[in-house]
Amino acid sequence: MAEKRDYYEVLGVSKNATADELKKAYHKLARKYHPDLNKDNPEAADKFKEANEAYSVLSDPQKRAAYDQYGHAAFQNGGGAGPGAGNPFGGGFQGFGGFGGGEGMDDIFNMFFGGAGRGAGRRADNGPRQGADLRMDTQITFEEAAFGTEKKVTVNREEECETCHGSGAAPGSTPETCPDCHGTGEIRVTQNSLFGQVVNVRSCPKCHGTGKIVTHPCKDCYGKGRVKKRRVLTVKIPAGVDNGSRLRVAGEGEAGIRGGRPGDLYVYLYVKPHKFFGREGTTVTCEVPINIVQATLGAEIEVPTLYGQVKVKIPEGTQPNKILRLKGKGIVSLRTGQKGDQMVRIKVVIPTGLSDTQKEALRKFGEASGTAINPEEKSFLNKIKDLFK
Ligand SMILES: [Zn+2]
Ligand SMILES: [Zn+2]
Repeated sequence: MAEKRDYYEVLGVSKNATADELKKAYHKLARKYHPDLNKDNPEAADKFKEANEAYSVLSDPQKRAAYDQYGHAAFQNGGGAGPGAGNPFGGGFQGFGGFGGGEGMDDIFNMFFGGAGRGAGRRADNGPRQGADLRMDTQITFEEAAFGTEKKVTVNREEECETCHGSGAAPGSTPETCPDCHGTGEIRVTQNSLFGQVVNVRSCPKCHGTGKIVTHPCKDCYGKGRVKKRRVLTVKIPAGVDNGSRLRVAGEGEAGIRGGRPGDLYVYLYVKPHKFFGREGTTVTCEVPINIVQATLGAEIEVPTLYGQVKVKIPEGTQPNKILRLKGKGIVSLRTGQKGDQMVRIKVVIPTGLSDTQKEALRKFGEASGTAINPEEKSFLNKIKDLFK
């Protein structure tokens, strides 16, 4: 839009005009430019909006004072004009509702809309609405979950049409005020009943509650103001996520409606199981096989971790299923940033398919050990004996 005109200039009054003078000037302009009376004059709608906006500010003593002091800058950051900001639909009309409240407003609506007023409740139909959230599932590897990664995800989403900037109107045209509801987005039906007059309010079917009719629809979005777009987004996945983690990517959902903010994208993560590692929270688990000689005499073995191989001492006489803890070899916690541990379960493998020499050696070992090979075994045999006494 071109540079904003001075509100006093718009209404054609002096800076010290009285409330009455403002009202008169406004009514004159509003009658002259009302869209219903100017169907063939596309400029009229803009003039009407401009006059609405000017009057909505100047008719409110507080807003007028702010405007006198700061000019248009007084209302730039949302403030009263709120929902309309940056919305090609918006301007005067939406700002209108936003300013709300003042007696001047009711007056205007009574004048044009037969006392329809603008209750706070029904603005929801007509006002900005947040875009829908989207959900995406993506699979990552165990290592990606542990160390974080960047993932490309493809989303199909509704975006604001670039051609018409969401208005749905072909370039050069503007949506017109709906003739059925006069831009209120609702239809009031008054019925006589035993208890007097009953007013039923429903959403206007002609404009679907938007209050606007697009007469020359934009060719790219067919007047919807939104188009389906396929987007490839790069999502940053932090270290420490787990199977089922949900990431929120703010603002990457569907476009908002009538200037509403976009929805969010939620990415659900599925972590592929690892061939060797398991995981419980920040703890990495694994199972390492050793042979009976290593278990009996002790040994030093290599154990894989997420951070490379580490040497681990197996103490003499290690029993099956013993768990060794490797400090700090686990996964970083999303919350505390501290690393968990790796738990190594020792699996003692009983040898099979021994050669004659190996068998002979084992037999010798048996003879050298007597019936009982270790103290635990001895006490077990004694218990059995007690049992059958
Ligand atoms: Zn469009
Ligand atoms: Zn309508």
